Amino acid sequence: MLRKILATLGIALGVLCVVIYWSYKDVIITVPITEKVVALTFDDGPNPPHTQALLDMLAQHEVMATFFLKGRNVEAFPESVRAVASAGHEIGNHSYFHRPMISLSKTDMREEVARTNTVIENILGYEPVLFRPPYGAQGPGLKLALQGLGMRSILVSANGADWEVTDPQQIAISVLENIEPGSIILLHDGHGDVDDPETQDSRDATVVATGIIIEELKAQGYRFAPVGDLVALANQ
Ligand SMILES: [Zn+2]
Repeated sequence: MLRKILATLGIALGVLCVVIYWSYKDVIITVPITEKVVALTFDDGPNPPHTQALLDMLAQHEVMATFFLKGRNVEAFPESVRAVASAGHEIGNHSYFHRPMISLSKTDMREEVARTNTVIENILGYEPVLFRPPYGAQGPGLKLALQGLGMRSILVSANGADWEVTDPQQIAISVLENIEPGSIILLHDGHGDVDDPETQDSRDATVVATGIIIEELKAQGYRFAPVGDLVALANQ
């Protein structure tokens, strides 16, 4: 009896491992290059005026980044979306409501991505091709939905943990100690768990941390590129 239970558990665990492996197989966590290039990515925005403060910081350092926008915030702040795009930054999709995708039905999952693409296209005239799953959670349903929409999933290899750390220096250290060529850096200009786009808190610490990260990495000989460009570098 015990053998049967253990064998069944073993098979179930094996199937689960295969499903997880398959779900994450094509997700980009870091980019395999030797050149000292990294990508700065900002999630959960737009969140004016903090998104604007970030744009000013990036412009001051002549750095281009990727912004993974939350559909609900896009609808609330179209001018901020235009400001990010017209500054030359890359626009990505971070779902509409920022719910954990693995908790949704296949239809709702696709709707979260497609609806955000539509609201972005209504403002900018084009749809993003990059998606960042809220909380980094991706199951087989999301993988299939993204494949159907011709999109790629982007995760992260250097995390500032700026949703729980408020000291800019500490945020910067969390990122800097995980940097290598091809790293994808995660920071936030908005707040994923805040439903009402109008009640988002400050991201001043992230703005200051961004300046520290850029100055330190430039001093180490790094340059910055949006995630799409970083991925293209690896394919050259
Ligand atoms: Zn998020």
